[in-house]
Amino acid sequence: MIGESALVVFSGGQDSTTCLYWAKKNFSRVVALSFIYGQKHVKEVELAKELAKEANVEWDCMDVSFISGLSTGCSLTDTSLQIEEEKPADGVPSTFVPGRNMFFLSIAAVYARNKGIFDLVTGVSQTDFSGYPDCRDSFIKSLNVTLNLAVDEQFRIHTPLMWLDKAQTWQMADEMGVMNIIRYKTLTCYNGIQGDGCGHCPSCQLRRKGLEKYEQQRK
Ligand code: ZN
Repeated sequence: MIGESALVVFSGGQDSTTCLYWAKKNFSRVVALSFIYGQKHVKEVELAKELAKEANVEWDCMDVSFISGLSTGCSLTDTSLQIEEEKPADGVPSTFVPGRNMFFLSIAAVYARNKGIFDLVTGVSQTDFSGYPDCRDSFIKSLNVTLNLAVDEQFRIHTPLMWLDKAQTWQMADEMGVMNIIRYKTLTCYNGIQGDGCGHCPSCQLRRKGLEKYEQQRK
């Protein structure tokens, strides 16, 4: 047990759901916080609510739709844009929502503090780095310092998946006994299809490759 209470930044995808169960193992009270940020697939939020209920944790949701209005050209929030199937060789992918993790974690910190919670959990990972700068360990450490300077000195941001690849993330789910929940009930697909997803978007490809690698290793 690490502490009393934790708040999980919770999208209902593979990573944050794995983190939700990790938090349940390490904290006696867990709160899941989801965000409406103008994503195309708003059913993501309904799904997150159901997953939190199944995990028997408190759940809440914040509307931060203004984030998608701050920048244009993101294929996760702009319905006129297609999501590319391949990662661009340079620059960030069109699915990058600038500032998303910074906003989510900053808002989560203030929200959590109000509930007397100072442990924050996020499912970001540097290993399967998708080209998102705000998934890097250096960003998380920097933001932790900033939150402690700006809001309260006690915050701890936990990143249980930071150095795991997708295969190891599957392994973690399996070891916690939640493989089927993660595999069939979470939504990671950029095209909004639950479980194994559409199969061809970059997110589905990463998820499937990890699963195949893990199943190979387990044999
Ligand atoms: Zn997909």
